[in-house]
Amino acid sequence: MTVINTAVAPKPDNFTVDPRIQFLFAAVRLMGSNSSIRLQTGDALIAVDVQNDFLPGGSLAVPEGDAVVPALNRYLAAFAARALPVFATRDWHPPDHCSFKARGGIWPAHCVAETRGGGFATGLALPQSVVVISKAATPDADAYSGFGGTDLAARLRSGGVVRLFIGGLATDYCVLNTVKDALAEGFAVLLLADAIRAVDVNAGDGARAQDEMRRLGARAIRYEDLAP
Ligand SMILES: [Zn+2]
Repeated sequence: MTVINTAVAPKPDNFTVDPRIQFLFAAVRLMGSNSSIRLQTGDALIAVDVQNDFLPGGSLAVPEGDAVVPALNRYLAAFAARALPVFATRDWHPPDHCSFKARGGIWPAHCVAETRGGGFATGLALPQSVVVISKAATPDADAYSGFGGTDLAARLRSGGVVRLFIGGLATDYCVLNTVKDALAEGFAVLLLADAIRAVDVNAGDGARAQDEMRRLGARAIRYEDLAP
């Protein structure tokens, strides 16, 4: 005969889980949330200024700038597989642009419209459907952000986009300002931490820019965080 002594059986309300187990559950939940970013309708990818002049050998080369090309290509393939929209911003300067040293600006001449330096990196696998956003195309205005003086926000909204995956060049200038404007426009932003590189005019600029973007609400992810 089996006797069950109900008096000592644990009741749901005084049943406690070992704190170490609770911690384990929480950690698993966290890992789960980071590995389950599922691409879906409403998502768009923005490749920021992946142009020849910002790559090694270009007139304003970003250190390891070419590393963003294969990194972005993995995301581009994931977006292509789901027929999700892709935008590519580019500096598209006139030869006498105000940001150039010849006109008192701080940069060497770069990304002049219709020149090789202004072209997208050859290896970047942009889809045929890519929407190209040209910025700072007049002599007297500069724009680090893809939203600066362009119709990018309107195009995203009319396409039903609510969440942006943003990578490219450079972390501490055009990526930073594009992300800040995207957040200010009300989009959710996932920063592609493995597909950005910084100019780092001052050591640590890139790291500080990443901190700022996270503080403002962007979530930094890596390709491995996407659900397969
Ligand atoms: Zn520029």
